[in-house]
Parts: sequence; C-alpha cells; structure tokens
Amino acid sequence: MTEVTTTRFVRPGSLEEAVGILRDGPGKWTLLAGGTDLLVRMRDGAVRPEGVIDLTGVREMSDIGVVEGHVVVGALVTHARLAGDDVVRRHGMALAEAADLVGSPQIRNRGTLGGNVMNASPAADAVPPLFVLAAEIRLVGPAGERWVPVDEFATGPGITVKREDEILAAVRFEAEGGTFRSRFARMGTRKALAIAKVSVAIGARRAGPGGDLDRVRVALGAVAPTVIRARKAETLLEGARLSEATIEAAAAAVMDEARPISDIRSTAEYRREMCGVLTRRLLNAAEGE
Ligand SMILES: Cc1cc2nc3c(=O)[nH]c(=O)nc-3n(C[C@H](O)[C@H](O)[C@H](O)COP(=O)(O)OP(=O)(O)OC[C@H]3O[C@@H](n4cnc5c(N)ncnc54)[C@H](O)[C@@H]3O)c2cc1C
Repeated sequence: MTEVTTTRFVRPGSLEEAVGILRDGPGKWTLLAGGTDLLVRMRDGAVRPEGVIDLTGVREMSDIGVVEGHVVVGALVTHARLAGDDVVRRHGMALAEAADLVGSPQIRNRGTLGGNVMNASPAADAVPPLFVLAAEIRLVGPAGERWVPVDEFATGPGITVKREDEILAAVRFEAEGGTFRSRFARMGTRKALAIAKVSVAIGARRAGPGGDLDRVRVALGAVAPTVIRARKAETLLEGARLSEATIEAAAAAVMDEARPISDIRSTAEYRREMCGVLTRRLLNAAEGE
C-alpha cells in the first residue's frame, strides 16, 4: 500500500507572523522562498516537510535600501533584481555580477539571495561576493534579531548557524561604493546550467588610479567545504600597487590556498589552476580601470 502524506502550506503576510508560526511548531516547518532548490528536492523525495511556510507574502523581506550607511538587501530579493539594481551595482558590484551569472533567466527570476545563502553550498554564487563585502546576515527569531558575519554563517556544506526557529530576513554590507570596488568571476558550464566549478571574488579600496590598495579581501568558492578567504593573497596585496609582479604573486598565493577536491564536475588540479586564472583576470581588469 502506498503511504500518502500531505504537506501543510501557509503563507504569512509579515515576518512577525512567520516567526510566530515557527515558534509554535518547532521542527515542523520548512521555509520556502523562490523554491528553485526546495521544490526540486521535494519532488525528488529528498525532503518531505510536514509543513511549508511560503515566505513570498512577507513584503518587508523584499526591499533593497540604504540604512545608516549600509546597503540592506531583503532575503527575498531575486538574482534578477540584484543583477540590475543601481544601489547594489554601486556598492556591491561583485554581488550584482554573481547574480547575473546564476542559472538561467527562469532561475534568476525566482531564486532569492536568502535561499542562495541558506543552501550553504561552497559553490553558491552570491557568497564569495558577500565575503569580500564583509556582509552580515540578519536572523530573526522568537528571541529577537541577531546579525552574523557571513564568514561565520556556514560551517560546512549545507550547515549553518541559523537556529530552527529563525528566519534569514536580510543581508547588509557597508555602502562605501565610492572607493571600495569589488568584482566576481566564475568557471562553470553555463550552457548546462551547471553551478560554479570555481569562483573568485575580490574587493579592495584604492586611493585613485594606480594608488595603493587597502581593505583587500579575496574569497574563493567551490574549493573547500565552505567559501574561504585567501588570506595570504590579501596580505600580499594590502598596501601594494597593482603590477604584473603583484598580480602574479597574488594568483600564486590563491592557488596555494585553495583546497579543491576532484569530483564529477572537475579535477582538483584544474580547479586550482582556474583559481589563479580568475584572480589574474580580475586583478588585470582592476589595473586597467
Ligand atoms: C537549474 C538550476 C540552476 C541553478 N544554478 C545556480 C547557479 O548558477 N548558482 C547558484 O549559486 N545557484 C544555482 N542554483 C541553486 C538555486 O537556484 C539558488 O541557490 C537560489 O538562490 C535558491 O533560492 P530560492 O529562493 O529558490 O531558495 P528555496 O528553494 O526557496 O530555498 C532553498 C533553501 O533555503 C531555505 N530558505 C530559503 N529562504 C530562506 C529564508 N529567508 N530564511 C531561512 N531559510 C530560507 C529553504 O528552507 C531551503 O532549505 C540553481 C538551481 C537550479 C534548479
């Protein structure tokens, strides 16, 4: 006999209401945003939630704005919107570039920033940009809100510090787009809608064309169990000017720091090599700006 199970489905109209539902039924509910991951996993039978809280009715999680010197992006903002938003492009270009490379137009129109961060995949495209922007994640639960630095949020593939009764409500980063620049590049077979084999995001402040770099941050995707910072490359670039020699040294440092594995999508050697290629590409473009 086939067992038939039904999933309860609710669509709250506010964050407070959503938190209340979670609080009253701990462990029962799964959160749904764009559904590009969750619905696929439900269809495949990989997850069978007792109840689904559809967050798409929570208007306050759909905004992008500047609040007290920070760009605040609601968790429900889609990749398509991120890619084209003027505020995001001005203060967090790497994030806009990453959003523009996610999946297909359909996936970009539905998939959200919150869902991407929550997947805690080392290959999630939005996460290396959030590392270089020193972003913080807003979690809201019955006890109130807390902000977690993005580099402390995922502790392993698919594992985060978010508690069961919390909702990822927003992401914020400093609105310092005048001098701080960030860029993102990835290797992946876009035609096949594949996720990134390797990705690199770099951010830094520069006094002017040809000036010294400071606040350098380099983040690597898909080369370790979580997104990682390339600290040696950052140290090398901090206070330096971009030149062929510094770019080469930074690319070598990044290749040294990457800890990729071989899997069905790529080999460790190729991934390490590509980390260097992407780093060179991003730094050469910055040198030319
Ligand atoms: C064909 C295809 C191509 C793809 N290509 C890419 C790609 O190129 N790059 C890439 O990075 N990803 C890619 N993805 C993965 C996915 O589309 C993105 O990660 C997307 O951003 C997920 O967002 P979502 O809103 O659809 O999440 P959902 O599927 O709604 O949710 C994903 C997970 O996050 C949880 N969740 C969602 N929102 C919240 C919240 N606000 N608070 C707490 N938990 C929450 C859900 O419970 C679920 O566990 C692809 C997926 C598909 C199917």
